[in-house]
Amino acid sequence: MEPGQITREWLESLDVAEFIKIASMIHDIQREREEARHRKLEERRRGGSRAREKAHRGRSLQLERVKCGKEGCKKCSGEQPELHGPYWYLYRPKKSGEGRTSEYIGKMLPEELAREFGVPEDERRLG
Ligand SMILES: [Zn+2]
Repeated sequence: MEPGQITREWLESLDVAEFIKIASMIHDIQREREEARHRKLEERRRGGSRAREKAHRGRSLQLERVKCGKEGCKKCSGEQPELHGPYWYLYRPKKSGEGRTSEYIGKMLPEELAREFGVPEDERRLG
């Protein structure tokens, strides 16, 4: 896709899985930027020390439910929205060493990740 060609029509033509993937990535980027901003403020407050954060760096696997944002979506609206998913997400440190990035894995956890994180066979496939 060329820059400038992202239109509302294009977004609306995506199937739910694609749309959720894109929405999730945007959500992640926003969250990462927000976290980065907080971290900078924190660092400034603590005089530039990042030692504590480094100790928590590493990859982690998470299950998350997401919003598709479609108007009238039964899963996303109501008093107790059920949302879509859950989907697997892999969080890992960024190459720059600043913050974490998340990768959308989907409903099926690949063998390699499952083994690395010790996820039992019957919990790998969701939904
Ligand atoms: Zn929805």
